Amino acid sequence: MNSTEKALVLKVGRFRESDCWLRLLTPSRGVFNAFAFGGSRSRRRFVGCLDPLSHVLFTIGTSRTGDYTVLEEGSLLHNFPGVRKDSSRTGMAVNCIRFIEAIEVGAGDGGVAYDLLLETLRMLETGGGNIDFMPWFFRAKLVFSLGYTPDFLVCGTCGEAVGAGHGYQFGIEKGQVACPTCLSAGKPLDGLARPISTGVLRALDWIQRSSPSDWVTVAMDHEVRRQCAQVIELFVAYHLGLSWENGTYKKV
Ligand SMILES: [Zn+2]
Repeated sequence: MNSTEKALVLKVGRFRESDCWLRLLTPSRGVFNAFAFGGSRSRRRFVGCLDPLSHVLFTIGTSRTGDYTVLEEGSLLHNFPGVRKDSSRTGMAVNCIRFIEAIEVGAGDGGVAYDLLLETLRMLETGGGNIDFMPWFFRAKLVFSLGYTPDFLVCGTCGEAVGAGHGYQFGIEKGQVACPTCLSAGKPLDGLARPISTGVLRALDWIQRSSPSDWVTVAMDHEVRRQCAQVIELFVAYHLGLSWENGTYKKV
């Protein structure tokens, strides 16, 4: 049976004379592969739909034997021309796509990943997106949206709100803050923990509550940015089992 679904095209490959395979992200299926037979020859069924970064309404079916997914036709909704023609913005978009592929977004998380990627592409299309922030903001926002949601403003042991003083730590495994009082009373965090300033905790809280349109105007002290990015990469690595090395994600 056919269904009609909005999809973001993550990757396209061509084989034989005129056939294509596509890696797609949809809210209900997550990331999956599908074939567009005769796709690169058809003038009507897939006009402008068979390129990465396209947002498309596809009619999706299955092969006669039921073994694989087949695209019957598509209508292009948007192809983000501003992102395509600017190599820096293309790079940021590709970085986000690689992250989504690396964490193997399934059906259960499809909606969250699809909404975030679409909103990010729209933000990039309007000319937003700073290379210093965007890629790791996206990773942070996605990992938080997948349900790993630390409370950066409250001590996980005593429940006291984070104040203005020094001596806080953040535990990567439980995603918990420990206040100086609890630490000096000998209640250390389990596992990997890092000293963290209250400025960094507030910045992480802001990222957690932000949406891509907020990232356009963000300004952040260099040192705060460096520390936030470090905490996020440790958090992603621990909870999703990934690390970012030489332009690609690796399972760790
Ligand atoms: Zn405490």
